Amino acid sequence: MSAPIQERYAGAVMNTFGPPALALVRGSGAHVWDADGKEYVDLLAGIAVNALGHAHPALVEAVTTQLSTLGHVSNFFATEPQVALAERLLELLGWSGEETGRVFFSNSGAEANEAALKLTRRTGRTRIVAAEGSFHGRTMGALALTSKAAYREPFEPLPGDVTFVPYDDPAALAAAVDDTVAAVVLEPIQGEAGVVVPAPGYLAAAQAIARDHGALFWLDEVQTGIGRTGAWFAHRPSEGVDPDVVTLAKGLGGGIPIGATVARGAAATLLQPGNHGTTFGGNPVAAAAALAVLATIEADGLLAATTERGDQLAALLARQVGAVEVTGAGLMRGLELDGTYAVQAVAAARDAGFILNATGPTRLRFVPPLVITSDDLDALEASLPTILDVARRTAQEASA
Ligand SMILES: *Cc1c(COP(=O)(O)O)cnc(C)c1O
Repeated sequence: MSAPIQERYAGAVMNTFGPPALALVRGSGAHVWDADGKEYVDLLAGIAVNALGHAHPALVEAVTTQLSTLGHVSNFFATEPQVALAERLLELLGWSGEETGRVFFSNSGAEANEAALKLTRRTGRTRIVAAEGSFHGRTMGALALTSKAAYREPFEPLPGDVTFVPYDDPAALAAAVDDTVAAVVLEPIQGEAGVVVPAPGYLAAAQAIARDHGALFWLDEVQTGIGRTGAWFAHRPSEGVDPDVVTLAKGLGGGIPIGATVARGAAATLLQPGNHGTTFGGNPVAAAAALAVLATIEADGLLAATTERGDQLAALLARQVGAVEVTGAGLMRGLELDGTYAVQAVAAARDAGFILNATGPTRLRFVPPLVITSDDLDALEASLPTILDVARRTAQEASA
């Protein structure tokens, strides 16, 4: 039954993603089912999105109740869920009370970054310093901050005045930042690059470099935020990291599209009436979904669970034959393999009933729902040796 849907897909949907591997019909917790009724443990979670897994009752209830009360009104009007969500995000960032934090809502990570990029233009400066290996989205502005040549080159010229420096290299950053720079933008952990974690102290050093030159320090927490690393955010004020701008999306709505650009201090008032806008951004249904995600993470202790399950995941990955390095934090983990068989591992895992993701030929990424159980990870541990073995052999046969 998957096949007919995939054929119709090919005949009707633009081929920007390549042919879909499966047609999925249903999900529950960390499990999904395809059109043939086959069950999978979902270790991708819609690309680090489904924080509460699939069909979580709290999310279903929040969205259903809000949609049957007030679904959409545009930003000509205020709604309680949007304001409550803005207040909650500021509180989680420590930017409420004395601080003057403000939130702009949109519908995706790219849009959250577009708003932030426009905000930086209002400093009167236009230069941005970003990192090699960065991923900030596919719209023209977000793409301008994204380093990957294959994504950029077909669409040049891109907006901007963007300088790329090696990630996790404070000296290179210091050499690139001067008083013409509007902002330094970094992912606290690079996600699409394969879960690349900088050395301790890098973010604080980058922040100091930005501030020395009057540049904004902007962290893209689209993938790392909202509990993914076992804390609300991957940057820690306790380690001296407190950016001027934070962008969020992915996990925030638990699968309902929402993005947020959060700024504080002088950055919070750079965008003035008429400077930016959106029809859908922060609509009450998406805001209610995000509030339910945040409330459930808190009520169910999912930050602690993410740390615990994350440690379990990291340990089982490190025990695999062929594991060169396990990276990441919480339930955002990268596995570097000892050969080019990551793509084959994704296919072998699918056959074995697991949804994985490869960020490159030698690297797997694991970003399961924060509600994944210890039993699900035990099942992964039991199957992974065979999956990697099959993948290694398939890759060898293909190259022979
Ligand atoms: C996924 C991602 C984006 C883009 O988000 P979309 O919702 O796909 O537009 C931006 N930044 C980071 C760090 C991401 O991981």
